Amino acid sequence: MKSFQRRRGSRAIVVGSGIIGLCCANALSRRGWGVTILSDRQPGGASPAAGGILGPSVESGSGWAHDFGTRARDRYPDLLDDLDDRTGIRVPLLRNGILEVALSAEGARRLEGEAPAGSHWLTPDDLRELEPALSHASGALHHPDDGAVDNVRLLEARLSALNAEPSVELKYVRVTELLRAEAATIAVRSAHAVHEGDVLVLAAGAWAPLISGLPREIPVTPVRGQMLSLAAHPLAHVTYGPLGYLVPRGSTTVLGTTMEHTGFDLTTTESGIAGIMSASQSLCPALRVAPEVARWSGFRPMTPDHLPIIGRDPELPSLVYACGHSRNGILFAPITGEIVASIASGDDPKAELLPLSISRFERNPL
Ligand SMILES: Cc1cc2nc3c(=O)[nH]c(=O)nc-3n(C[C@H](O)[C@H](O)[C@H](O)COP(=O)(O)OP(=O)(O)OC[C@H]3O[C@@H](n4cnc5c(N)ncnc54)[C@H](O)[C@@H]3O)c2cc1C
Repeated sequence: MKSFQRRRGSRAIVVGSGIIGLCCANALSRRGWGVTILSDRQPGGASPAAGGILGPSVESGSGWAHDFGTRARDRYPDLLDDLDDRTGIRVPLLRNGILEVALSAEGARRLEGEAPAGSHWLTPDDLRELEPALSHASGALHHPDDGAVDNVRLLEARLSALNAEPSVELKYVRVTELLRAEAATIAVRSAHAVHEGDVLVLAAGAWAPLISGLPREIPVTPVRGQMLSLAAHPLAHVTYGPLGYLVPRGSTTVLGTTMEHTGFDLTTTESGIAGIMSASQSLCPALRVAPEVARWSGFRPMTPDHLPIIGRDPELPSLVYACGHSRNGILFAPITGEIVASIASGDDPKAELLPLSISRFERNPL
């Protein structure tokens, strides 16, 4: 791989102002970069649509991905303190653990047998004591350090912090094309202008592959997730059931979700919402009488292995990928920003980050 060293007064262009683009812009500006964020306002952005779950124990399997997810999760408390200091916005964070609930004796046997290190089994009595609204369940796994962040407030706070940063500018334009790229300069085109920088961070979520002129295929596809919220808060914990999850958020509960390969169709459907309702009500019967507050959907930027693509292009060091965060982009956002700022600034990408390189999708990786 060719090397790239940052010059004094360097400028980064970040394409996309979802949570990944904003965290990259923040981390770059902290390292002394001037940053231009170029973003359109695509309906269906994943970041405001998400459940905000920080759940490596449930979502990230085992081994390297689980450790990476755990490190990502543990960035959150400091990050939110810092945002509070800078903006006066206190973003709600739940860190009392995630419950993975069994609704049958067989489900209980399976879950108990699968408990990852650090998680423990709650009998029906233990569970009833912790969450009376789950007293009908057959027990639950408790993943003690997982939880959720209010991703809508997080976006608001992140944007407010960046707006106050003189080295960061945000332009609402759609990038259509990567115009030219050399080792240490790169330019993209929007409808009426050409934007030039020393490095380009591609953080355009599910739309990343639609920008023309990129040096290789970006294996990211939109996967629609429908969500709804109800005006009730019977639970104190993020709760997973066999077919869905519930996230306490203020005076409401957020219910998720579907995984649908429907291209960029943002519709919410009666059957999708009915499926979520039915899974949620069997998980927490108290929700049966709760009125609906809102329903929405968004596009997860999914990769084939569900891990993000983070790192420099193998041929063009001025192009840095930060896309494809799939089901866990809220979880991975702060750590993605740190990694991107570090490699854009010329640090050697650590060998341990190879599982995130775009080369992993090529038949003969470089
Ligand atoms: C229903 C649902 C539930 C989810 N729940 C969770 C969860 O509980 N926990 C979790 O960790 N993750 C969750 N996720 C996943 C997470 O939301 C995403 O992985 C993450 O938000 C991706 O962020 P992003 O910034 O890459 O993409 P987005 O938020 O989609 O942002 C992409 C940005 O790029 C802009 N853009 C696109 N194309 C262009 C262009 N050509 N020019 C300029 N700008 C462009 C868009 O306008 C947008 O601003 C969920 C996702 C969905 C849809």
